[in-house]
Amino acid sequence: MKNPEAQQDVSVSQGIRMMFYVMKPSETSFQTLEEVPDYVRKATPLFISLMLLELVISWIRKGKPLGGLDDALASLSAGIMSQLPRLFYRSIELTSYVYIWENYRLISLPWDSPWTWYLTFLGVDFGYYWFHRMAHEVNIMWAGHQTHHSSEGYNLSTALRQSVLQIYTSWVIDNLGPLELILNTPSHHRVHHGRNRYCIDKNFAGTLIIWDRIFGTFEAENEKVVYGLTHPINTFEPFKVQFHHLVNIWTTFWATPGLFNKFSVIFKGPGWSPGKPRLGLIEEIPEVEGKEVPFSSSASQLLKMYVVAQFALMLAFYEETFADKAVLSQVTLLLRVCFIILTLTSIGFLLDQRPKAAVLETFRCLVFLILCRSGHLKPCISSLSFAFEIFFSICIAFWGVRSVKQLVSDPWR
Ligand SMILES: [Zn+2]
Ligand SMILES: [Zn+2]
Repeated sequence: MKNPEAQQDVSVSQGIRMMFYVMKPSETSFQTLEEVPDYVRKATPLFISLMLLELVISWIRKGKPLGGLDDALASLSAGIMSQLPRLFYRSIELTSYVYIWENYRLISLPWDSPWTWYLTFLGVDFGYYWFHRMAHEVNIMWAGHQTHHSSEGYNLSTALRQSVLQIYTSWVIDNLGPLELILNTPSHHRVHHGRNRYCIDKNFAGTLIIWDRIFGTFEAENEKVVYGLTHPINTFEPFKVQFHHLVNIWTTFWATPGLFNKFSVIFKGPGWSPGKPRLGLIEEIPEVEGKEVPFSSSASQLLKMYVVAQFALMLAFYEETFADKAVLSQVTLLLRVCFIILTLTSIGFLLDQRPKAAVLETFRCLVFLILCRSGHLKPCISSLSFAFEIFFSICIAFWGVRSVKQLVSDPWR
């Protein structure tokens, strides 16, 4: 029998409750895999609305309209990059989960019993704690997870610096009273994102903080938390945000003598080097004063507005590509993914104010026109396509002239 309360579609009220994990077991139990809604896609519009709300509130509070915009865009870029592989294959974790369940399961739990839900909730949360702890304590896994920690801000967009949607509203919620004892609250997760010495490798919990209390990794928030990596990367360029630590591991691997040491570079903590304990020495973590200013873009307000407009356009293509992925050809999919990556990179270059940014942006506009002309990409509103072309031609002319000028005045740049 099918679950009568289960729906393919998620209502708005359900969506909002879903964001705060206020769901009944019967609403989130399904008999077959096909009935399970695509939670990430359903959550996206709600999440973006909440982020805009957060932006407006911080504007009112701090008086800076585009403050932290660069950091938020870099986080969104990372979120988009991490979702792109899903256009080509079903998630590896789901496929292997189904394979193991079909071939090696020890017992079958009744799918519609609340007890199954409670038990598996505990199980998943316990598993998450250990996965997350390993993501911090095993260097090669840290190469993936550091992306999420590279933001020097701490707001809703930070949660998107990876594929998992988590929700923590840092500045709204100070302390949740007795709930702090059992739940992973915004305060506890602020500590997890800190680069102060007392914050390193603490509070790995997903939903329940009890695991950290049991396994000795709990730390309460006390002195002001400074967010980000202990060695900030100071860039908004998406490839660097995603892969810089992998490059670090690669160079350290070859520079470290001895086979055992080389493997230790990969599997021990990110702070390890020969002669040190597994997780490195806490004294080597740079001290923070609490007055650190987050890295920010030196781009003009006008350029930032241009970047936001291009990002919004790209987001529309991204949404449409996911919605139509079943009917699009593999070539179109691949070209669109390349265009999205190119756009994110170009935006990163513009925000970083790199010398090559103008050339790259001109090239991107040209690619856009070619993709539109050849039918691989269609402007969001077809009647506006003419206006788009004129706009982009102006952009190309503008950037083209500028970059040629740059090249002429300094050919070695
Ligand atoms: Zn973490
Ligand atoms: Zn986090």
